[in-house]
Amino acid sequence: MKKVLVTGATGRTGLLVVNKLRQYPREFKVVGLARNEDKVKEIWASTDDFYFGNIKDKTTIEKAISGCDALVILTSAVPQIKGTPAPGARPEFYFADGESPEEIDYYGQKNQIDAAKSAGINHVVLVGSMGGTEETNPLNRVGNGKILIWKRKAEQYLIDSGINYTIIRAGGLLNEPGGKRELLVGKNDELLKNPPDGIRPSIPRADVAELVVRALQIDEAKNKAMDTISRPPSENGENVKIDFVKLFEQTTAGL
Ligand code: NAP
Repeated sequence: MKKVLVTGATGRTGLLVVNKLRQYPREFKVVGLARNEDKVKEIWASTDDFYFGNIKDKTTIEKAISGCDALVILTSAVPQIKGTPAPGARPEFYFADGESPEEIDYYGQKNQIDAAKSAGINHVVLVGSMGGTEETNPLNRVGNGKILIWKRKAEQYLIDSGINYTIIRAGGLLNEPGGKRELLVGKNDELLKNPPDGIRPSIPRADVAELVVRALQIDEAKNKAMDTISRPPSENGENVKIDFVKLFEQTTAGL
């Protein structure tokens, strides 16, 4: 039985990971970390197995992670829209005070990794974003937050921590059913720069959540970092058979 802490548990991918892990009650004991009790009640009706607090506060993380074997990091800074854009104008974004990518995606993740190390955690699965090799990627301009740069720095911090890691850098996230698409694995944003057959570099959140669960189950996922996108879904709507061991074998250690 592995005890797993999922942070960012109220996020759109985090909640899918919690739900998927709960489908294996003999394999996983799941605890969540969230900052908003009402959101947890809204999603699961109960706050059982939840800790509450901000990832900027190390003591909250230390309490939640105590006795765990693995940590799944699904926290992220979230840009806010500035007012209502004029008709035809592009929306402008900002990050709330204290919620910038530097504070959340770098220092907030660093806090989690440090707490994991002190608690003797065996494996950290970190969900990040593709585009971190591109300083000029438009996402870095959002709210002037350089979000992809800070996320990549945190990935390097995890690798340097010496804890077993799996880094899953997703393409654009879609709210679509999982299991319907072939998944592709790459490195160094190659799938972003040259997606095969001109496909959109995107992937359903449900498929990312499945990858997180498999990473916790499959030894070949340890000490690997990968970019991942998906092909469009099968036309007949049937599930696609994926060999997850082979998928993790396709990638390597290091950023
Ligand atoms: P999301 O819905 O934006 O969830 C972010 C989570 O982080 C929420 O649960 C949020 O809590 C939590 N959080 C933020 N600041 C926190 C703090 N200070 N303390 C505690 N918790 C905090 O996530 P998502 O869209 O599913 O994305 C998952 C990951 O994939 C993120 O790293 C994201 O950057 C990355 N990604 C996104 C895209 C995309 O297209 N959007 C593409 C590739 C990769 P609250 O619920 O309380 O706000």
